[in-house]
Amino acid sequence: MNKIAVERTKRSRIDSVDFNNLAFGSVFADHMLVCDYKNGQWGAPKITPYQSMELDPSAKIFHYGQSIFEGMKAYKDDEGGVWLFRPEENQRRLNISAKRLAMPELPKEIFMEGLVTLLQIDRDWVPRKEGSSLYVRPFMFASGKGFHASPADEFRFMIALAPSGPYFSGKVSVLIEERYSRAANGGVGFAKAGGNYAAQFYPTQLAVEKGYNQIIWTDDNTHEYIEEAGAMNIFIRINDTLITAPTNDRILDGITRKSILDIAADMGIETEVRKIAVAEVIEAAKDGSLKEMFGAGTAAVVSPISSFGYKEVDYDLPELGKSYATILKKRITDIQYNRGEDKFGWRFRVV
Ligand SMILES: *Cc1c(COP(=O)(O)O)cnc(C)c1O
Repeated sequence: MNKIAVERTKRSRIDSVDFNNLAFGSVFADHMLVCDYKNGQWGAPKITPYQSMELDPSAKIFHYGQSIFEGMKAYKDDEGGVWLFRPEENQRRLNISAKRLAMPELPKEIFMEGLVTLLQIDRDWVPRKEGSSLYVRPFMFASGKGFHASPADEFRFMIALAPSGPYFSGKVSVLIEERYSRAANGGVGFAKAGGNYAAQFYPTQLAVEKGYNQIIWTDDNTHEYIEEAGAMNIFIRINDTLITAPTNDRILDGITRKSILDIAADMGIETEVRKIAVAEVIEAAKDGSLKEMFGAGTAAVVSPISSFGYKEVDYDLPELGKSYATILKKRITDIQYNRGEDKFGWRFRVV
């Protein structure tokens, strides 16, 4: 690939940002990457100042929802070095999503070189503060025109950056869902498709009205098995065993999930990848063997659950001093922030 064309901003906005009080994903770095697909091929990617863009009202993204994304983070170490965590996994997954949504796959060089060049240019936007990072959002959508219900013939791939503070704060109480589903067999649950989120918002609002923060998704067929925690994968600790559901059509193959499985096994924690029945979790909550539940994903890393509701009954989880959630989060963030040994070779240096 040729060198990426760069149009630098004439006026950086960086001085207007309070890096000590960052929300999640609500201010954007100076630059973005754009790459268009036309006439059956990807054009040259370019980096421009972050800005709004024009789309035709008939662009198929608006009507038929061809839209996929990735979520990753860039981390700054104490020496000012900037790192990514397993970025090739995001690249691979973007193309798995693209295929399922009848969108063109993006060549690996465009993704990787585009990402690295953009991050090198906006490296000063990677926050230094503990728990903060530069959230990286690669995404692709149908920019092609027409009301005909068929795949577009033009697409746009972009990467935008948002300096962010920690994702969640406080205890999370969740509701085990009995009616709605986020995904079904043969569907797009395994893809990072925008529509999966749209479908999740309404049931989540209902749960919030009942006083919960999030939904625990169960299988669409019986609602008897636990699948994901909101937009995160789920881990359940019964006694000293850490359990997560196997990936399938309905479950997103999370990079945090598989990293946690590897780290836990390496630390000698017993792990099981298997179906988890709601009945088993209720039973374990009643007999005291249920020790922890937590969500796992790039944004929050690990998000401990303090209680869950099921069939109008609430169950509290114990407060543990040394929880798996805390230990595993520390291990994984030590790798991400270049503080600890990287046994698995997951760190990727940007600068
Ligand atoms: C993105 C996502 C995850 C987490 O994936 P990571 O690669 O760990 O960030 C889990 N579940 C859903 C539904 C997701 O969209």
